[in-house]
Amino acid sequence: MKQAKSTSASKAKPRAAKSKSTRKKAPSVDNPGKVLKRSRYSKAETYAIFQRFHADNPEPEGELDYVNAYTLLVAVVLSAQATDVGVNRATRHLFEIADTPQKMVALGEDKVREEIRTIGLFKTKAKNVILLSEQLIRDHGGEVPENREALEKLPGVGRKTANVVLNIFFGHPTIAVDTHLFRLGNRIGIAPGKTPLDVEKAMEKAVPTEFSLHAHHWLILHGRYICKARKPECRRCVIYDLCKSPEKEKFDAVPEIAVRTRAQIERESTK
Ligand code: SF4
Repeated sequence: MKQAKSTSASKAKPRAAKSKSTRKKAPSVDNPGKVLKRSRYSKAETYAIFQRFHADNPEPEGELDYVNAYTLLVAVVLSAQATDVGVNRATRHLFEIADTPQKMVALGEDKVREEIRTIGLFKTKAKNVILLSEQLIRDHGGEVPENREALEKLPGVGRKTANVVLNIFFGHPTIAVDTHLFRLGNRIGIAPGKTPLDVEKAMEKAVPTEFSLHAHHWLILHGRYICKARKPECRRCVIYDLCKSPEKEKFDAVPEIAVRTRAQIERESTK
């Protein structure tokens, strides 16, 4: 699975990085802080941001391992309050022995619990995996439904999980708002909102149609690896010169990754 491209750091020097004590707390679902009424960006500016993400990483991918729609669904359910790396470590063997709802039910809750015991909330998650597998067999012939409403009726599956499955497996242009996406929407002010649903709606409105399929991945990867909660790595940011966040670190020059990607887009547009 891919992760955000490693980007060479610019030689640009920080002018006045904020000290830890004065740095604003990153917006989080529990504490969104003061939420903007609307996006800080015009349509053209938003387009330029997604053009950058696209040029930098044309085919972004999620980081959870899976072999079919069912194992993706289970992996996403397991990933709540856990890292993708930790989930992959736990599911490697589990999916070898149970890659369908029928096999999972046959395995039983105790064995599933044992397989995923390294993941947080493993007892509840094991229970949900069995319950959702039984429900898939009973209501959907053992298939994962390509429908948000039906997905959300499954135990342990909320809107975010449904959106991830719809986007990654079925190719719907859904935006699953996790902690990274929520922070990014508010911190850079591209899709401000008090709740994950507000950010999801604002993001759906903001993202240009041609970028809507991959927007979810670009934003999550950007939030996870670059625009981090504790301290954004602005020096490695591909949208540095476009970003209007008050938290942006000030440099004397635009970081090399942003300059290079901007030049690449200009070159491609004149072809
Ligand atoms: S410039 Fe800094 S604050 Fe703005 S998006 Fe990039 S990493 Fe985040």
